[in-house]
Amino acid sequence: MKISKLKSDFQNSLSEIYPSEEIQSFFNILSEKYLKLSRIEMALNPEKAISVEIIGDFENALFRLKNYEPIQYIIGETEFFGLNFKVNKYTLIPRPETEELVEWILVQQKLIPNNSQLITILDIGTGSGCIAISLSKNFPDAKVSALDISEEALQIARKNAELNEVETNFFQADILTIKQLPQQYDIIVSNPPYVRELEKKQMQQNVLNHEPQSALFVANEDPLVFYRTISRLAKMHLKPNGKLFFEINEYLGEDMKMLLKSEGFQNIEIKKDIFGKDRMLKCTVNEQS
Ligand code: GLN
Repeated sequence: MKISKLKSDFQNSLSEIYPSEEIQSFFNILSEKYLKLSRIEMALNPEKAISVEIIGDFENALFRLKNYEPIQYIIGETEFFGLNFKVNKYTLIPRPETEELVEWILVQQKLIPNNSQLITILDIGTGSGCIAISLSKNFPDAKVSALDISEEALQIARKNAELNEVETNFFQADILTIKQLPQQYDIIVSNPPYVRELEKKQMQQNVLNHEPQSALFVANEDPLVFYRTISRLAKMHLKPNGKLFFEINEYLGEDMKMLLKSEGFQNIEIKKDIFGKDRMLKCTVNEQS
């Protein structure tokens, strides 16, 4: 089969379920992955013959796309903060909003005078390890640790640290039940589950049917359970002037402020994401910072 036929068959079989730009983008991503050919090279070589094996790869991908599986799971990787990350069904696909959280942490940390970056950082609920690893990469002297409840996610996170050539210490823990953390930290960061069951209606099938539910959803009755637990542990395990950073539910910014205030945190600040939604929060344990 030639490239031109592969492409037209691909487009035809998805045209009823995805917009044409998205199909084009899937095709480019898969061509890059399976044929190691860029969009331009594909366009310049419509007559090039494709092996049976590669046709099989595309057929398999088509089957999974028809089932609304995210393209990132199909190719097993994605990009976050300019780095490559492996992902699978045990890890959430890193979101652009989370890149903004990482960027905020970097900017805040660089504002500190004489900052040698010999800091300790803990990422709670690390998933693919995207936050911890991109912080490790950008603070080469920092000691970064990360925990997750899922051993399967930690396996991927460890692979990602190796792939990106950073030393991050990953360990398994259930944040809702542990009584203390291993040490004191300068920064504690978390993007915990925060989507209320009632928000499921607004979500797409690719997220609902394929991403790990335990990384996304919380009960309507107690949506801040992770934040409350983490902030109590953080109070005990942040160094003086230490900072707590969260990714948050866009609808719960005010509730988050109230929660952290009542837990005794100060300098509580909410930051909007590029879509203008309340998405990040930082606060400190004491007055000085
Ligand atoms: N922002 C993610 C989403 O909307 C949710 C991430 C989370 O629950 N921590 O799918």
